[in-house]
Amino acid sequence: MARKVCLVSYHEIALKGKNRRRFEEALLKNLRAALSGFPLSRLERFQGRILCVPKDEAQVEGIAETAAKVPGVARVAIAWRGGRSEEAFAEAAILAMRESEPFRTFKVHAKKSNTDYAEHTLDINRSVGAALCAAFPEKVVQMHHPDVTITVNVVGGESYVYGEGMRGAGGLPVGTAGKVVSLLSSGFDSPVASWMVGRRGACVCPVHFSGRPVTSDASEWLVQDILEALRPYGMVGRLYVVPFGEIQRRMALEGPPELRVILYRRAMVAIAERVAEIEGAKALVTGESLGQVASQTLDNIRATNDAVRSLPVLRPLIGSDKVEIIERAREIGTFELSSEKAPDCCTLFMPRRPETHARLEVVRRAWDALDPDALIDEGLSLLEYVDIEGCPGYKAPRALPTRHDALASAGWTPRGDGDREGSAR
Ligand code: ATP
Ligand code: MG
Repeated sequence: MARKVCLVSYHEIALKGKNRRRFEEALLKNLRAALSGFPLSRLERFQGRILCVPKDEAQVEGIAETAAKVPGVARVAIAWRGGRSEEAFAEAAILAMRESEPFRTFKVHAKKSNTDYAEHTLDINRSVGAALCAAFPEKVVQMHHPDVTITVNVVGGESYVYGEGMRGAGGLPVGTAGKVVSLLSSGFDSPVASWMVGRRGACVCPVHFSGRPVTSDASEWLVQDILEALRPYGMVGRLYVVPFGEIQRRMALEGPPELRVILYRRAMVAIAERVAEIEGAKALVTGESLGQVASQTLDNIRATNDAVRSLPVLRPLIGSDKVEIIERAREIGTFELSSEKAPDCCTLFMPRRPETHARLEVVRRAWDALDPDALIDEGLSLLEYVDIEGCPGYKAPRALPTRHDALASAGWTPRGDGDREGSAR
C-alpha cells in the first residue's frame, strides 16, 4: 500500500547557480522550524526537491499547508510512495488525480533515476494513462499545457506519484537576503509590506511607534497580534516599540501645525534607521503607497525620506491599490486584525490641514528647529523590544535596548541572551 509523503519544490532557488546550496540549506532550516510541531521521520533534499515524511501519515495535509507558507517554497505536492509495478503506479495515480480536483485536462509524465527498473518511461506513461482514462472517463488527456500533470517518478526501488499540489508562498528563504527594519503600524499596509520583503528572503525587525504614554498601549497589543498572524511565515525576528507620545506632543507644540505629520514621520524614519544600525539591517521598509493619503504624495515622501541618512527605504506597495493590498492582507491573515482600531501615535495631535506638497527647505528649517539629534536620542533611549519566536535565520545584536516587559511577560519568551541590558541605551 502506498504511503503519503510531501514533496516540496522551490524552482526559483534553482536559478541561483553557485548559491544554490546556501539557499537550499536555509530553506531546509526554515522548513524544519516551521514543521517543528509535526513529528517527521525524514526531511531532506531529494531529486531537486525536499522530501518530507511524517511519522503519522494522518498529518500529511497539515504538513503540506504549513510548508506551503514558508518563503522559498514554490509548490507542495502530496505524493504516494509505493512499489514498482504497473498496478502500484496506476493505483497511486488514481489517488493523485482525486487529490488534484477540480480540473479538466491531464497528462502522465514518467521519470526514472538511479533505478534498474526496466520498463521504458513511455510505456509507463501509456499504461498509467490508460488506467486513469478508465477511472476518470470525464477527464481529457492533453499533452500541451494540461491542467494537471501526474508525475510517476521511479527512484531506486520505489516510486513517487503526485499531481500539481498546492502553490507555496514563492520567493526566497528568509535569512538569505539579510535583515530589514520595517516601520509597522497596525494598519493594512505595513504588515503586507513587511510580508512582501520577508518573502523575498529578508528577516524583518519591525519598529512600532506607539502613542504611549499619551494614548493607551492598545496598538502595541494589536501589532503583537499581527506578528503572531505572520508567525507561520517565519520572517519576524524582533519587535521594537518606541513609546512616542511624549516626543510627539513636544513636536506638535514646537513645529508648524501643517508640517506635523511630515515631522513625525521624519522622526520615525530617523529613529528606525538607528534601530537598523543596532540590528545590522540593510534597509528600512514602509507600507507607503503613492498618493494614498496626504503624507504619501511624492513631495511629502521626499520630505520624509530626507531624514534618512544612508539606508535605502523599500516601499513594496508604492504602486499598489488599496484593493490589492487588502486582498493580500486577507491572504496572509492580517486583514481582520488590521481592521481593528487602536489609537497609535498617528492618531495623536493631527493638524486640521496637513500640508500635501511640502517644500523641502521649509521642512528642513522646521526640523532643524526641533533639535533633531536630541529628539532621536530620546526616542532611542525609550526603545523597548520583544523577541518573536519562529525566525530561525534571526541573529540578535549584541548591544540591546530594554526588553518590553509588559508584552514579553504576556507569553513572549526572549531568545538567547535577550534579557541583557546593554550599551544601546
Ligand atoms: P499602514 O500604512 O500600515 O496601513 P497607516 O495607514 O496607519 O498604516 P500611513 O499613514 O499610511 O499609516 O503610514 C505610512 C507608513 O508609515 C506605514 O505604512 C508604516 O510603514 C509607517 N507608519 C505609520 N504609522 C506608524 C507607526 N505608528 N509605527 C510604525 N510605523 C508607522
Ligand atoms: Mg497606509
